Amino acid sequence: MQIIQTKSELESFYQLISSKRLSVGLTPTMGALHKGHMSLLHKSNTECDVSVVSIFVNPMQFNNQADLEKYPKTLEEDISLLEKNDCDFLFLPDKTFIYPENFEKIKLDISNLDDKMEGEFRPGHFEGVVNVVFRLFELIQPQKAYFGDKDFQQLAIISFMVEKLKLPINVIGCETTREENGLAMSSRNLRLNNEQKKKAGIIHETLKQGEILAKKMTPAQTKKHMQERFTRSYLDLEYIEIIHPKTLEPLDQIWVSKARVCIAAFCGEVRLIDNMQIRS
Ligand code: AMP
Repeated sequence: MQIIQTKSELESFYQLISSKRLSVGLTPTMGALHKGHMSLLHKSNTECDVSVVSIFVNPMQFNNQADLEKYPKTLEEDISLLEKNDCDFLFLPDKTFIYPENFEKIKLDISNLDDKMEGEFRPGHFEGVVNVVFRLFELIQPQKAYFGDKDFQQLAIISFMVEKLKLPINVIGCETTREENGLAMSSRNLRLNNEQKKKAGIIHETLKQGEILAKKMTPAQTKKHMQERFTRSYLDLEYIEIIHPKTLEPLDQIWVSKARVCIAAFCGEVRLIDNMQIRS
């Protein structure tokens, strides 16, 4: 695996790609890598000639300074995991590489997609996400980009951005990889102790319960029952939303195909999110 950190290393990457006409798959990450990230890389490896994973903890998408400071950093382990999983290039830019002095934010109105759920509880988060992903696309120029369904709203917003700006990139959503008790793998899980990891299993249990309830209830009733289940748990619920998969608008009385149920909750100090497609 080669590591790209400088402009000249990026130039050599461009030369290799264009001289051999290779297709490029990009998996953007913030590091502290785990099997979930690797599942994205595996997909890229099967679909593209060259796989690039980027690691960049993007300050612009953190609305909470303490959250940014506590974000886990495990670069040595990340590098060895990427090598074991046949990653071709690790893009490891610093802040000035992504945000040079003349950097200008892109102009894209995502207000109807980011005024709810993560966007509501983390103001400015998606503006940061859209800008960093746009910049990564600009620098790496992939044909395909891999994102997890786990961050469903993020995936919807990136897909919207690519469509609106007519970028020649295929955005691929990948299934969520889970622990044995259903807890979605996440870099933030490193901050949970074993007891908390067990207790956080309630998120997936509640999502599965939602799917069963959906067969006989409206979205609004399903949401209410799911919320009640959470009031008895160790976790503090931030939101449960049942939404349209494209517009992300909350569903009330009528189900639509591929509706998503999304949860955000605190387990101790750690904020966890997860979601599931309702297959009714
Ligand atoms: P992050 O490093 O948390 O920003 O995640 C980088 C990418 O990996 C995002 O597209 C996430 O949605 C995806 N991802 C994170 N956790 C998982 C998981 N458990 N399963 C599949 N993809 C994941």
